[in-house]
Amino acid sequence: MEEVELPSRLAILPFRNKVLLPGAIIRIRCTSPSSVKLVEQELWQKEDKGLIGVLPVRDAEAATVGSLIAPGMGSDSEERGLKGSADAVGDSQKQDGKNPQELIHWHNRGVAARALQLSRGVEKPSGRVTYIVVLEGLCRFSVQELSARGTYYVARINRLDLTKSELEQAEQDQDLILLSRQFKAAAMELISILEQKQKTAGRTKVLLETVPVHRLADIFVASFEISFEEQLSMLDSVDLKVRITKATELVDRHLQSIRVAEKITQKVEGQLSKSQKEFLLRQQMRAIKEELGDNDDDEDDLAALERKMQSAGMPPNVWKHAQRELRRLRKMQPQQPGYSSSRGYLELLADLPWQNVSEEPELDLKAAKESLDRDHYGLVKVKQRIIEYLAVRKLKPDARGPILCFVGPPGVGKTSLASSIATALNRKFVRISLGGVKDEADIRGHRRTYIGSMPGRLIDGLKRVAVSNPVMLLDEIDKTGSDVRGDPASALLEVLDPEQNKTFNDHYLNVPFDLSKIIFVATANRVQPIPPPLLDRMEVIELPGYTPEEKLKIAMKHLIPRVLEQHGLSSEFLQIPEDMVKIIIQRYTREAGVRNLERNLSALARAAAVMVAEQDCNIQFSKDVQPMTTSLLDSRLADGAEVEMEVIPMNDNRPEISNAFASASVLVVDESMLEKVLGPPRYDDSETAERVATPGVSVGLVWTSFGGEVQFVEATAMVGKGDLHLTGQLGDVIKESAQIALTWVRARAANLKLSTAGEINILENQDIHIHFPAGAVPKDGPSAGVTLVTSLVSLFSQRKVRADTAMTGEMTLRGLVLPVGGIKDKVLAAHRYGIKRVILPERNLKDLTEIPSQILSSMEILLVKRIEDVLEHAFEGGFPWRRHSKL
Ligand code: ADP
Repeated sequence: MEEVELPSRLAILPFRNKVLLPGAIIRIRCTSPSSVKLVEQELWQKEDKGLIGVLPVRDAEAATVGSLIAPGMGSDSEERGLKGSADAVGDSQKQDGKNPQELIHWHNRGVAARALQLSRGVEKPSGRVTYIVVLEGLCRFSVQELSARGTYYVARINRLDLTKSELEQAEQDQDLILLSRQFKAAAMELISILEQKQKTAGRTKVLLETVPVHRLADIFVASFEISFEEQLSMLDSVDLKVRITKATELVDRHLQSIRVAEKITQKVEGQLSKSQKEFLLRQQMRAIKEELGDNDDDEDDLAALERKMQSAGMPPNVWKHAQRELRRLRKMQPQQPGYSSSRGYLELLADLPWQNVSEEPELDLKAAKESLDRDHYGLVKVKQRIIEYLAVRKLKPDARGPILCFVGPPGVGKTSLASSIATALNRKFVRISLGGVKDEADIRGHRRTYIGSMPGRLIDGLKRVAVSNPVMLLDEIDKTGSDVRGDPASALLEVLDPEQNKTFNDHYLNVPFDLSKIIFVATANRVQPIPPPLLDRMEVIELPGYTPEEKLKIAMKHLIPRVLEQHGLSSEFLQIPEDMVKIIIQRYTREAGVRNLERNLSALARAAAVMVAEQDCNIQFSKDVQPMTTSLLDSRLADGAEVEMEVIPMNDNRPEISNAFASASVLVVDESMLEKVLGPPRYDDSETAERVATPGVSVGLVWTSFGGEVQFVEATAMVGKGDLHLTGQLGDVIKESAQIALTWVRARAANLKLSTAGEINILENQDIHIHFPAGAVPKDGPSAGVTLVTSLVSLFSQRKVRADTAMTGEMTLRGLVLPVGGIKDKVLAAHRYGIKRVILPERNLKDLTEIPSQILSSMEILLVKRIEDVLEHAFEGGFPWRRHSKL
């Protein structure tokens, strides 16, 4: 063990009712301002190894006069004539407003310690700095004088433990050798017992061989759970013989207690098996009872069920039906088939909200408007329509208003608007997902004759909300389809029809249930797939996607605050500047709604949460501290012993300390963090240019259930017999469009100067392959006509199309361009891709009014009547068109 040089002054870390002995290792958490300051100045900021003094202090009530000192007075101040610094300390106590009874009682002996490991952390959300310090006790000292330095104390000290040479002399003492032997024997026995139990052979035994006995004594005692008094007396045992004698005693005591504990465990084990036996017997008894049919547990159960049914408020006819069913159930044995299904059925009847409604207070339209505005940016018209809807309800609460259906791409706020309606009306909200529902039974339930039959989703939803007047969202109503198992749409029709839904008949329930108090709201991505009769009952409110500017505002005002809150952060910890949000919008998301944007912001918040939680930079002192060579550190730090330090407040309330750190730890998202967390940008504006760099590729605009999309069309030719191949996820209509496009191009080959005069068939010995890349989005609809022609013309003429131009439009065999749907979504999509010019059918002119003006003004809209005009706009410098062919 190296010799420690003690300085004459040490900063003092008080340990309340706890002692650090030399050789002991302890992990502490410093949280109070004064201890944090001490660690900061004495350990963290010092490059070389810093030593601090650990001094036990004792609560006032536990204090006895004897060996304690008051601050500012050396223990032996009289002899040595020391000056106290009572003033400073007295001051701090006054500031604390502590009464004198709570005086701190310092022990006059302590242990110098060094830090083996230091880590700094910032607590969220308070911004408080804390340290975790692993301290190793080194050597005893006595306090000469205690004085304040800033918020903590410093002591003038004298070394107490012997120096190396003094030790060598002392070890010659015969008595000491004898005592040491006794101690080692006891220690050996203890270690053997412990190692037997924990099967960690040989680890600690090394200690016995290598460490001098007087240090061993401290180390052993430090690992025992002994009282504060005993710890103090060990600390006070400066004399080696006294210390070793005491340690031997303690080790002996520990051995004894282990033996006693073992005995007790054996006894307990015996008892345990007894209780297990009892359990088994009880189980058997139950089984026997069940065999005999006197199962009183179940009897109780059914009584409880009946009580529940009584309080459910069923209408009289249903109640009669339920009682009949209950009588049947009573006659059955629990093992009988049908028992559990019958029971489940009655449970459902009892759970359904026959009468239970949420109270609807007088509707406050102003508050409703405010709450809509608070939760949703923009959407002025939509919100206005919702307010109108609510106003009508206010005037005539049981009016059969229309059913609102929000239509738009994902992530534009359809669901959250619906839930806002529920909030405004103070009703419960339940969402029923209809996506992929193909079976009528999903809506209407299975008859109970089937095994595993269940009620339909509506009844199930009502059971979940437990009120009969919720706002019920029929989500993705456009995604229901019909097949051999019936038509869910017809069941939905009944649900939405005010004449019929008073007595909705669920096949499982088999008694009518009144759905008329429910307010239905529906959502859909597109209108077309909704069956017309269903559409007829709803009022469609369209939510087209957002412009990048709108997305930015939504992100700054709504998404970021919400995301921060969800992750337990505040803007004091994480700031996402506008510029970065813009980058996320442009380069990481290309969507009509804001769902991916929100997802990306959440990813940033998650990453930040990890950083904030771990904002400790673990540094290990490399200099002067040899790394602990054996696994000693582990074994001495066993079970992660962590002492929550509660250090005596001195000059509390030093806000500048914590504030300084708090402001230092704000995390501002920058581009490098974006890349680290979100990966490299997914989109950039050069994408279009790169893709149209070869002839045969053109840029189209299509409409999918995710809103508008930019769609590239690639055509290529190869040796063949004049066939047309198509790939990409395509519908039949697109195949026809491709055929029409090819025919048109072939017929006009000469006019377009695609073939020389003599060459009639440009497809001679060639196959054409057209591919629609980009994803598994099913493409249908004829709106790709103009795009197909453009790509074929580009292929045959070997000229590149303009990268800044996208197009949409249906084409007739004779080359007329017909209008198409979804113009707004398509133009928005083009805008998202950074496309500057859009070719549209002339007859779509009227649709342009829907597009926000700032987008229109930033783009060039080219309206065309004929396909030749398309070609003229699509190629740089126009396309030569020989109108009066000489041929
Ligand atoms: P949808 O039902 O249309 O797929 P959601 O209602 O689930 O979309 O919306 C996705 C997320 O975007 C939600 O967190 C929602 O609050 C948010 N959001 C969408 N539009 C807006 C808006 N205009 N203002 C504020 N937040 C919005």
